[in-house]
Amino acid sequence: MIQIPKGTKDILPSQVYLWQHLEKTARETSEKFAFKEIRTPVFEHTELFLRGVGDTTDIVNKEMYTFLDKGGRSVTLRPEGTAGVARAFVENGLAGGALPAKLYYMISAFRYERPQAGRLREFHQFGAEMYGAGGAFADAEIISLADGFLKALGLKKVALQINSIGCKSCRAEYHKALGEYFSPRLFDMCGDCKTRFGKNPMRILDCKEERCKKHTAGAPRMLDFLCGDCRAHFEEVKELLAASGIAFTVNPSIVRGLDYYSRTVFEFTSDAAGAQGTVLGGGRYDGLLEQMGEKPLPAVGFAAGMERLLMVMEAENAPVPQEEGVCCYLAGMEKESRKRAFLLAEALRGQGVSCEVDLMERSLKAQFKYADKRGARFVAVIGEKELSDGAAEVKDMRNSASERVKFSELVQYLKQRS
Ligand code: ATP
Ligand code: MG
Repeated sequence: MIQIPKGTKDILPSQVYLWQHLEKTARETSEKFAFKEIRTPVFEHTELFLRGVGDTTDIVNKEMYTFLDKGGRSVTLRPEGTAGVARAFVENGLAGGALPAKLYYMISAFRYERPQAGRLREFHQFGAEMYGAGGAFADAEIISLADGFLKALGLKKVALQINSIGCKSCRAEYHKALGEYFSPRLFDMCGDCKTRFGKNPMRILDCKEERCKKHTAGAPRMLDFLCGDCRAHFEEVKELLAASGIAFTVNPSIVRGLDYYSRTVFEFTSDAAGAQGTVLGGGRYDGLLEQMGEKPLPAVGFAAGMERLLMVMEAENAPVPQEEGVCCYLAGMEKESRKRAFLLAEALRGQGVSCEVDLMERSLKAQFKYADKRGARFVAVIGEKELSDGAAEVKDMRNSASERVKFSELVQYLKQRS
């Protein structure tokens, strides 16, 4: 049998309720903040990610699923959500609507990475993006949405770390300082860092290699180079978070992997999320639209990795609503009562009650066994006697109590008890 591609996973019916819970919580939290869902294509022109994600990033350099389609166009499976949302935002003129525009997405994303715990080639993200608001309140609201989502999932040991990476003007000075710091150390660092040094030295701080971490620990900190405006912005974000009761620590080494970030960057981390530990990352990217060749507009957002969230939920033993079985299994016996069970099931479904009937001509005993496996709350037995009485023998599978219930009263009976 052909096997599943490396780095991908099937989500089986027995697990899907966890995903549905995660997705429901994401939607409900987003909607509380008045964010609306946006859906964009799974693939885009490769050029979008070259410009929108940036060609100094690992994503663009190593991780993209890029191919030529039959028309000879280079297309790429989306490695993240932000670039596609930015394109859709511009292409559909959403900047002309009410600002700030508040959008959220739930997507699968694709990166050619070495699969390990919490790192897949097809993975899923829940993300939020806000366009049009440049002030600290917008940063605080985005972080509050992320925090509210994690709290609604019942996660308690996920820690928020924030930093500011300044704007174009204060970063120039910082890059100079980083250059001076790293140039005598570069010989002892990984090949990627050598490349980063020339293109975007700040990205060196994001390196996960031990031998590089040794050097990055003592590197100059962006926080010491912030211009007055960036400093004031960061102070205000911290003040708003503190006033909202959102706990955080300032971590000067957070820079985020993507090129378009400016000012606030943040990560929610957990020990239970695999090697890297980041379950949700985000920040401000006022330069993104400009980098894509559009009119600049401030923006701030985040993306959360759903597989990593599920790992953390499991490790923290977070409460998940139990999966519900079917409400009623209608067991028939001979031809007439089976037909009656089938038609009753149709009627019950029409009234909003979930039910199943035998489709495999099983014995009554085997039908009970099946109903039990399916987690049926009730089993309504219909035989010749029940047909002539116009009533089913309804067994409550939780306590095995049985009751005679008229066909005409079955809906009400089941609704009252489930
Ligand atoms: P990492 O440093 O772990 O590679 P990243 O900086 O590449 O993460 P982002 O691009 O910020 O990640 O994506 C946001 C979130 O998506 C991450 O915090 C993580 O939870 C999740 N994520 C990223 N790549 C993967 C992957 N290959 N498999 C599963 N989840 C992922
Ligand atoms: Mg990565």
